[in-house]
Amino acid sequence: MLDLSTNVQYVKGIGPRFAQVLLEKGISTVEDLLYYLPFRYEDRLNPRGIGELRPGEMASVIAEVRTFALFRTRRMPLFEMTVGQGRDTLKCIWFNATYLQDKFRAGMLVALYGKVEAGDRGGHRFQIMQPQFEILHDPSATEAAGEDEEIQSLEVGRIVPIYEAAGNGRLTTRWFRRVLHGMLENLDQDIPDAIPASVRGRMELIDRRRAFWQAHWPEVGESLTKLQAARTPALIRLIFEELFFLELGLELKRRKMRAQTGIAFQVNDRVRSAIKHILPFHPTAAQKRVLKEIAADMVEPAPMRRLLQGDVGSGKTIVALEAAVIAIENGYQVALMAPTEILATQHYLSARRILEAAGYRIVLLTGSQESSRKKQTRHHIAQGNAQLVIGTHALIQETVEFDKLGLVIVDEQHRFGVLQRFRLMKKSDEAEPDVLVMTATPIPRTLALTLYGDLDTSVLDELPPGRTPITTRLVGDERSGEVWDFVRKQVAAGRQAYIVYPVIEEGAMEGELKAAIKMHDRLRSHEFASLHVGLLHGRMAADDKDATMASFQRGEIDVLVSTTVIEVGVDVANANIMVIEHAERFGLSQLHQLRGRIGRGSAKSYCVLMTGGKVSIEAQQRLDAMVRTQNGFEIAELDLQQRGPGEFFGTRQAGMPNFRVANLLRDRDLLEAARKEARYVLVGPNADLTQDEIARAVQHLRSHWNRRYGLVEVG
Ligand code: ADP
Ligand code: MG
Repeated sequence: MLDLSTNVQYVKGIGPRFAQVLLEKGISTVEDLLYYLPFRYEDRLNPRGIGELRPGEMASVIAEVRTFALFRTRRMPLFEMTVGQGRDTLKCIWFNATYLQDKFRAGMLVALYGKVEAGDRGGHRFQIMQPQFEILHDPSATEAAGEDEEIQSLEVGRIVPIYEAAGNGRLTTRWFRRVLHGMLENLDQDIPDAIPASVRGRMELIDRRRAFWQAHWPEVGESLTKLQAARTPALIRLIFEELFFLELGLELKRRKMRAQTGIAFQVNDRVRSAIKHILPFHPTAAQKRVLKEIAADMVEPAPMRRLLQGDVGSGKTIVALEAAVIAIENGYQVALMAPTEILATQHYLSARRILEAAGYRIVLLTGSQESSRKKQTRHHIAQGNAQLVIGTHALIQETVEFDKLGLVIVDEQHRFGVLQRFRLMKKSDEAEPDVLVMTATPIPRTLALTLYGDLDTSVLDELPPGRTPITTRLVGDERSGEVWDFVRKQVAAGRQAYIVYPVIEEGAMEGELKAAIKMHDRLRSHEFASLHVGLLHGRMAADDKDATMASFQRGEIDVLVSTTVIEVGVDVANANIMVIEHAERFGLSQLHQLRGRIGRGSAKSYCVLMTGGKVSIEAQQRLDAMVRTQNGFEIAELDLQQRGPGEFFGTRQAGMPNFRVANLLRDRDLLEAARKEARYVLVGPNADLTQDEIARAVQHLRSHWNRRYGLVEVG
């Protein structure tokens, strides 16, 4: 009998050599291998007759190999094979498939799967291009008769799982089928289930062993369409399990953090009046609410771990500065970290504007500063003279030692994947500083629950007053003349414009793309000859970037030609036009962030999305969404659907867990349920949970999921 922790090399049919191949896929135990699920199933219970195929459908056919040949056309070699059932025949074509030459023999029985098309010539009614295939039986081979029969029974006459091959094709789908079937048959009747019984009951989960069986070998009688389209009870069980332990881990991590000693800041009348003093405007109701949430955390002795989500322009900066005042008034230092130098500099300038009247000492630390200056600044920080330290993330995190750090504010978090690995230089006997993380990318709830499940969340869901909605238009670049006209008119009325390009210089690859540098030259000498045109891109020296930004801010530049370096955070209220060329090349969240640069003042704002060349269906959807809505959450949802959770943030670096079964887009409901149940398990004591069950669940989490989800410290 096998149990879940048995090494796969002891499983029948595997052995040390294949175990090595499996190890490369991260599979070492029986349990790991059980999670190697088929990516689809084939109905070989009722395989289709060739005569009943319909063009356009996906079909699986079992037939006999008749003839085959390799044709060398001028473009590429084609491998053509005719298979038949009685008098009906079907043609199969593979491109570039010289390797198939020696694969088949007449008389073999093969299973084929692919899209049926009407045959074009040679008397075949139907053909399938590039079908997936499997050789089911080779009459000329000298296999032992008995074994052959046993294999056969796994290949036909049932719904058959199809696995991804591994080890450069050495482990075929048939291999997995045979090994997994045998392994399941020899699996202990009674495999442990770490999900507490009451949770299982509420979720109506099927037994774990049965779930594995059915996920690999669905019961005969299951409809194939149902299997492919819906989550079966087997799948639901495995998905829930995966999400349950993730949420349990996040919840434990959250609790553990709360149990550490942090700083209990005081928010008394003096602090309150200091905050009031700095405010340059009346805060919105949302800003007030969020500050309350933050202040409540800061007052608590446990360290704050809070995520502040607020769409572009919702006014996060002032909230952050208010929190900074609380810390500074309590005698602590504050670090404010931004993803780019431009942003850090901008924060520095506005922090000085807002806070310096109160006499706070603010320093800026950027990579492009002279090293003697940096050294001096670091000295100030270490001595405790500097109260608010603003800089790029990397710089502050890696090289700065604080005297008494109380609060860390991380702006535009999604730009860098540090959340999980958050660490600042501090002396070991000090209390944990509070951490406030701010992001302008609205995070769909599913992602927030997985990525940031260990954080508390605040949402700024209201824009400051006086904003007028941005008018967004979509135009082809053949109409650029009109667009430039419009820009000139707006500039004449005292406004400023951004013109954004997807690449800096024209390279061989992006030959037809209009590059920022080239277009800057051209617009400056032609269309906007009478205007002040500036250029901003990521490859400029930091000093030049700052100077350009500052002069745009002062209104000396009318039109700023730029790349996506302005994407995050830049705040120039008088700029009310944004033209984005080759808008079809940008991602949705990126377009949204870019557009967030305008619509900040009282003048009506315009965003012109120009397209050049071919626009894919997906790109068209993105552009339509931009025209339709300005709601960041709606846009984020669509972006998530188009690109999937991995790409949404730039995968691993953001700490996205790598799910084995769960799919965040499909399984939101189970994620919510898993979160609820995981919390329930931990609030204890619960009448329907034993201490033993809880301990078992936590133990299972430790041994199985910690490493996988990067929850290493969960204790
Ligand atoms: P973001 O959330 O994108 O970081 P900012 O903090 O840069 O937004 O704020 C955007 C603009 O709105 C800034 O010019 C800021 O001064 C202004 N602002 C923020 N809050 C208010 C408010 N309550 N009333 C008026 N203007 C505000
Ligand atoms: Mg901001």
